[in-house]
Amino acid sequence: MSKLEDIVSLCKRRGFIFPGSDVYGGMAGTWDFGPLGVMLKKNIMDAWWKFFVEDRDNIYGIDAAILMNPKTWEASGHTATFADPLVECKECKSRFRADKITKGINESVTTEEFLATHTKCPVCGKENWGPIRKFNMMFQTHVGAVLPDDDKELANQNIAYLRPETAQGIFTNYKNVIDTIYPDLPFGLAQQGKAFRNEISPRDFILRDRECSQMEIEYFVAPNTWEENFETMRSLQHEFLENIIGLDKSNIHELEVPKEDRAHYSKRTIDFMFDYPGGEEELMGLAYRTDFDLSNIAKASGKSMDYRDKKTNETFVPHVIEPSIGVERLFLAVLSSAYTEDEVSGEKRIYLKLPQNLAPYRYCVSPLLKNKPELMEKAKEVYEKLRKKYSNVTWDDSGNIGKRYRKQDEIGTYECIVIDFDTLEDDTVTIRNRDTTEQIRKNIADL
Ligand SMILES: [Zn+2]
Repeated sequence: MSKLEDIVSLCKRRGFIFPGSDVYGGMAGTWDFGPLGVMLKKNIMDAWWKFFVEDRDNIYGIDAAILMNPKTWEASGHTATFADPLVECKECKSRFRADKITKGINESVTTEEFLATHTKCPVCGKENWGPIRKFNMMFQTHVGAVLPDDDKELANQNIAYLRPETAQGIFTNYKNVIDTIYPDLPFGLAQQGKAFRNEISPRDFILRDRECSQMEIEYFVAPNTWEENFETMRSLQHEFLENIIGLDKSNIHELEVPKEDRAHYSKRTIDFMFDYPGGEEELMGLAYRTDFDLSNIAKASGKSMDYRDKKTNETFVPHVIEPSIGVERLFLAVLSSAYTEDEVSGEKRIYLKLPQNLAPYRYCVSPLLKNKPELMEKAKEVYEKLRKKYSNVTWDDSGNIGKRYRKQDEIGTYECIVIDFDTLEDDTVTIRNRDTTEQIRKNIADL
C-alpha cells in the first residue's frame, strides 16, 4: 500500500473522511467529513481565521451567499473562460481532460496541437479523437419557479451557478465595506466557504474534488505598493503554514507561475507546492490580480469602485493581492505530515503526530480498570474538570489500556491520562505522551 492509501484507510477507519454518499455507492468527487475529520478541519480553519483575521487590525471577515447574480460570473470572466479542454475518444466514448492525459500541453491546447501529440486513449488504447471542446466547470442551476418543460428563454433568464470561487463574494462586497467602515489601505477581506467545480475527472482523494472549502483573502492596496504588499503576504503565508500549521518547511516549494500558465486576471502568481505522498501538488496560490475584478465590476454594474485616499484625497481603484488556499488540500498536507509509523515494544504502531493546536483531542481520560467503581468515579471527576478547562477532551474506557493508547495514537490525541489506584491515594495521574510514549506522574491540580 502507498502512503496515500494508508492515509485514506486511516481516514475511513477512524472517522476522519468518508466517501460522499457512501451508503448509495458514492458520488464521484465528493467526500464527507466524519466526527474526527470535522474537529481537525475546524481546528485548521479556526487557526487560519485567528492568524489572518483576529490577530490583525486590517483584515475583516465576509460571509457571502453561495448563489450570486449571474452577472458576477460574466464580469469575472468565468462564463467565458473558466473551462477545461474536453476531448472524447471516438472508439470507446470515454471523455478526458486533454491536458491531464498528455504531458507538455496546457489548458489552452487546440485540437491540432493535441492530435500532434499522438496520445493513446487511456481506456481502450486507440488513437481516434474528436475535437477539443471547451467544458465550463461551473455547476449550473435555475433559481425560482422554473419547470423542466418551460421554454428555453424563460429558463435562461433564471440561470444561476454554484460559485466556483469565494473571491467574487468578496469583490462584490468591496463597495459595501468602503461605504460602511471605510478602512485605510492596505486592508483585507477574508472569507471561508464552499466553492464548486465540475471537474472532468476528480481524483487523488480530496485533492481534486468537485466541492471544496476555500479560505481566501483579497488584500486591497494602492496600485504603486503592490510589490511590497505581495512580499508581506508571501511571508505571512510561510509563517502560517510553517509555524501555525506546523508543516515542514522542506516540503513547501514556491513555484513562480509563468505568464502562459497564469489565470487570465493575474500579473504575478506564486504557487506554493507541497510534497504530498503521491508527489508534488499545489497547496495554495498567491496572486496579484491587479484591478481586474474591481474594474470589471465597475463596468458591469455602473457603480464606482474608486477609493479616496484619506490624506491626499486622491482617488483610484485599489489593486489586489490574493492568497487562496483550499481547506481539503491543507487538511491532506497536515495529515500526510502527521502520519507516522514506528515500533513500540516490537510491534508496528501508527500515530498522527499532529501539532497540539490542531489535534482533535488534547487529552483522553481513562480509568485503569472499568470494573472498579472507585476508579470510574475518580476518572469521571477528572474528565469533567478537564472538559471545563479544555473543550477538546475525550473519554475512553473501552478494551484494555494498550488498545486505548493505540486508538488514541491513531487519531492524534496529544496525551492520555490514566486514573489508577495511586490516584485515589495521592491525587496524581499517569500522563502518557503520544509521540514519545513516555509516561510521567503529575498532580491533578497541575493539569
Ligand atoms: Zn477509448
